[in-house]
Amino acid sequence: MTTTFRAACVIGWPVEHSRSPLIHNYWLKRYGIVGEYRRELVPPEEFAAFIRTLGARGYVGANVTLPHKEAALALSKSDERARAVGAANTLWIGDGVLRSTNTDVEGFLNNLDASAPHWDRDLGKAVVLGAGGAARAVIYGLLTRGVQQIILVNRTPGRAELLRQKFGPRVHVARWGELDATLADAALLANTTTLGMPGQPDLAIDFARLPVHAIVADLVYVPVETPLLAQAKSRDLRTADGLGMLLHQAVRGFELWFVTKPEVTAELRALIEGDLGGAVRKVSG
Ligand code: NAP
Repeated sequence: MTTTFRAACVIGWPVEHSRSPLIHNYWLKRYGIVGEYRRELVPPEEFAAFIRTLGARGYVGANVTLPHKEAALALSKSDERARAVGAANTLWIGDGVLRSTNTDVEGFLNNLDASAPHWDRDLGKAVVLGAGGAARAVIYGLLTRGVQQIILVNRTPGRAELLRQKFGPRVHVARWGELDATLADAALLANTTTLGMPGQPDLAIDFARLPVHAIVADLVYVPVETPLLAQAKSRDLRTADGLGMLLHQAVRGFELWFVTKPEVTAELRALIEGDLGGAVRKVSG
């Protein structure tokens, strides 16, 4: 463990909504590490200069949130995951070089490992809803775990088609109206759209079509228990929620910056859940 002061931050525009400071400062305190994790509000036109001087500003690394994730990829030495996803969300300085990765891939996979052990044992068919940035991380992750077939369903079919071309022959595109028909034999259903968030419509799914062993993952984490997850649970299906993914994706950055691998604990989950509960009450109140 390091005993010299280290600092990291989340860079965004806006950045106030980010839960990363709550997560990382919890871990710093828990592991008795001398350090701090801050928010940095940086407009797009200042982003390049900011990250080029990250070290001089006293930072060992940073998380990057909207709208800077693509710029972070372009301006750093990225790993394969960040390039596959087309966006970087974690930066660190290694051997004097600004490096980047995308931790949503391991956040998604490690959360499933924790929530639904052996979920990937017979990973024949997975249905993925959505074709944005989060979908790219999910598709890449599922392919690395040996999924045989991914059915990609998106409101705008052209965006799904682009991902099919990017990720190759195991990815197939289905129309939004065909969603229920795709569910038969699916081992996993993953929602990467924003549907289910406050102010957005719920997802209408015919759960009777899903096999009883299917696992339902939702990336939406406000609210923590989305209507999709609530329905899946009521049918005794195994689930993995977006909050778990959010916490698991934070592990790698903390380890890179503070040289300690942190644990996703029930106490941390309760802390962030309480904070998110406040956000839901604000939106609906
Ligand atoms: P994005 O790039 O903006 O993509 C949004 C997706 O939602 C698109 O596929 C879009 O379809 C779809 N969509 C939006 N409104 C819709 C509607 N009314 N009906 C049907 N589809 C609709 O966003 P993203 O970055 O991929 O993020 C997606 C979600 O994942 C967000 O809720 C985000 O918070 C969550 N997320 C969670 C984590 C985590 O750690 N838990 C990590 C990353 C993302 P079109 O292409 O047709 O517009």
